[in-house]
Amino acid sequence: MFKKTILLTGGLGFIGSNFVTYYVNKYPEHLLINLDSLTYAGNMANVQEIANKTNYHFIKGDITNFDLLTQIFKDFKIDAVIHFAAESHVDNSILGPAVFINTNLIGTFNLLEVARKTWIEEPFKYKNEYKEARFQHISTDEVYGTLGADGYFTEQTPYAPNSPYSASKAGSDFLVRAYHHTYGLNTLITNCSNNYGPKQHSEKLIPTIIRKAVNQEPIPIYGDGLNVRDWLYVLDHVKALDTVFTKGESGETYNIGGNAEKTNLEVVNKICEILDQLKPLSNKSYKEFITFVKDRPGHDRRYAIDASKLKATLNWVPEHNFEQGILETIKWYLKQF
Ligand code: NAD
Repeated sequence: MFKKTILLTGGLGFIGSNFVTYYVNKYPEHLLINLDSLTYAGNMANVQEIANKTNYHFIKGDITNFDLLTQIFKDFKIDAVIHFAAESHVDNSILGPAVFINTNLIGTFNLLEVARKTWIEEPFKYKNEYKEARFQHISTDEVYGTLGADGYFTEQTPYAPNSPYSASKAGSDFLVRAYHHTYGLNTLITNCSNNYGPKQHSEKLIPTIIRKAVNQEPIPIYGDGLNVRDWLYVLDHVKALDTVFTKGESGETYNIGGNAEKTNLEVVNKICEILDQLKPLSNKSYKEFITFVKDRPGHDRRYAIDASKLKATLNWVPEHNFEQGILETIKWYLKQF
């Protein structure tokens, strides 16, 4: 008999699979049901370390399927949701936004609605057996739009999403917020900065840089390379999410970030320098493969997170600085590519 049965969505993707592996090992007393539709971004190999554990169960299925969600909540008596599943790549959202609206908005709505119907008798009145049930929604700092040279995103920063991806995530955050205020659903929202680390899909910036470099192909960098992102090692995000899920206050939003602002140019230069040491080329530096390409439309200039609320109220601090994290990450990808 498990203490909690958690429905986790999107657990075969980058952050979800790092979370699943950590959580299943840390909490044998909780059963984790991983629901993932295995889009191009999901990978079974990402969870192979824990796939046979008794407190882990995988279901291949889509969060846009309302009836399937209803059945899962009933069959497993789900009493918590940790919601990662999303279409997550900004470039793809520019080329084909429809699936982003479907998964990120409709999918999130379905989960909220099934949770509400299962857990809540009437607004602000939980059924007795679901008194502790909570819904954690994983979101991004991209909902806040873009910053100039100064300032940070706080939980009070007005939403100003600029891409179809960030707009769909912003909409999903608002749905979660509305379910808290209208029905009293026990919700948590986290908005995190850019993650990096093992198991990220090779389409994303850091795996692309490493892959292109080791293949000695042009390493594409958008525009002037001076867009700034605040990088967080994925395991630090995972631990922050565990902290928020365990100790966070219902209805609250928490920003998560690593205080590691870097321009894309700094990131690519750092990766090339490490590769020059780990896997030197005979007569040149990997930096010679850096190539500037036409900028992404609507490319946000700078993101930077103020995570002081999470640090002050729940005692979370990131354990990796960028130098340690990126070294671990490169070593991991060198084994894959
Ligand atoms: P990812 O693209 O690597 O993984 C997404 C996973 O969701 C995949 O396994 C995919 O198969 C699954 N999925 C997609 N559509 C689905 C559907 N309709 N039904 C069921 N499963 C579906 O994404 P990620 O980078 O791990 O991001 C996870 C979450 O964290 C997302 O909500 C994202 O918005 C958020 N986030 C990501 C970052 C980042 O830097 N990657 C930063 C902040 C927040």
